[in-house]
Amino acid sequence: MRIIRYQTPEGNAAYGWILEDKVGEVQGNIFGEYRRREARSPLKEHKLLAPCQPSKIVCVGRNYVDHAKELGNEAPKIPLIFLKPPSSIIATGEYIVLPAQSKQVEHEGELVVVIGKRAKGVTAEQAKEYIFGYTIGNDVTARDLQKTDDQWTRAKGFDTFCSFGPWIDTDFDPSDAVVTCRVNGQMRQMASTRDMVFNVGTLIAYISSVMTLEPGDLIFTGTPAGVGELRNGDVVDVEIEGLGKLSNPVKA
Ligand code: ZN
Repeated sequence: MRIIRYQTPEGNAAYGWILEDKVGEVQGNIFGEYRRREARSPLKEHKLLAPCQPSKIVCVGRNYVDHAKELGNEAPKIPLIFLKPPSSIIATGEYIVLPAQSKQVEHEGELVVVIGKRAKGVTAEQAKEYIFGYTIGNDVTARDLQKTDDQWTRAKGFDTFCSFGPWIDTDFDPSDAVVTCRVNGQMRQMASTRDMVFNVGTLIAYISSVMTLEPGDLIFTGTPAGVGELRNGDVVDVEIEGLGKLSNPVKA
């Protein structure tokens, strides 16, 4: 099932499920008890919001060997994790705004895990039970500030630097899907999730040994090689085979 969050004509947020190109409302708690109404209204008439509201966004650095190397790093021996603030979230179609403090803002197309159940100290084998579904993410990064700052909070945390969506797919298989990132239609990144250093189960075990994961929390699983600059007027598309496409325009 594919789940969206959208803006109602009254300006409220609602959850919906998708059947072909139609949407039905989902009433209740998508992570608990809910009821699906009949899918009748066309998907393209909905203003999509980011598909959930995470309490935290955990990201994994250097989880593809070729990307670690392109920035002059080795692949880590244990997962390298950092946080993005929920204030950085934008939906598909919304602008990524280039901040004045950076001269080098870059895209990072990534597979994103959405947690479905409170998870603390789960094993890699148990991890599947705690996954609600998957979505597509762009971990936008001020690369120059990432290099000058010891901590990555500033480089990763600007408003509009966390795009994810357009929906959550609860049936997606993350074991071998092609992730691509295009800027103005030109291919920048392409790799299979098979090439991750640490797989999703291992990441959930590692992260949940540190912090309790809550329903709706996100794990950005790392980006493949080919990261590059975003400029005013660009359009950046992250696509994952079998999952969909996330698209954002860029402005100064
Ligand atoms: Zn990243």
